[in-house]
Formats: sequence, C-alpha cells, structure tokens
Amino acid sequence: MSKADNKPKKHIPQRTCIGCREVNEKKTLVRIVKSPEGVCIDPTGRKPGRGAYLHEAKGCWETALKRGAIGRALKTELTPDETAILTAHMETLQED
Ligand SMILES: [Zn+2]
Repeated sequence: MSKADNKPKKHIPQRTCIGCREVNEKKTLVRIVKSPEGVCIDPTGRKPGRGAYLHEAKGCWETALKRGAIGRALKTELTPDETAILTAHMETLQED
C-alpha cells in the first residue's frame, strides 16, 4: 500500500477508443450503441444498449470500420445500412 495514494480522488469515467485503443475520459469519446432499433451513434451517451466508444477522429473510425472493431465491440454484425451510417459519420470528421 502506498501512502501517497490515500487522497480522495474524483472518479472520472474512462473508456477505450476501439479505433486506436487509447483510454480517455468518456466525455472526449463518442458512443456508438446497439439499440433495439439497430446500431447508431449516441451523442447523448444515454441510450440503453451495449456501447462502444471512439474518438471524433477520422483515423479512429477508419481503423475501427476496417478491422470490424465496431461489430466486435457491440457483439453484432453491422448491416450494410449501419455500416453506411457509420461511414457517413466518418466522412464528416477531420483527419487527425
Ligand atoms: Zn481513438
């Protein structure tokens, strides 16, 4: 046990970006959710369902889409429509 470590710490939720695998504060990542209506982007982060997180960076989305990381994280297979929605979002993002 380290003595330096007993200060009360604020708990900041951390999530892993499924594109670059970096861990960041949840609020810096965008959530993708597998909702009952299908896979979609969840800007509020409040929809029920299994979620996956990505930086708002084109490179992370490209990697995740190319490697099938989104479907794997959500334990589903993306339909062509869902892939199209996610690809369209990726196209709006800046290169990093
Ligand atoms: Zn990332």
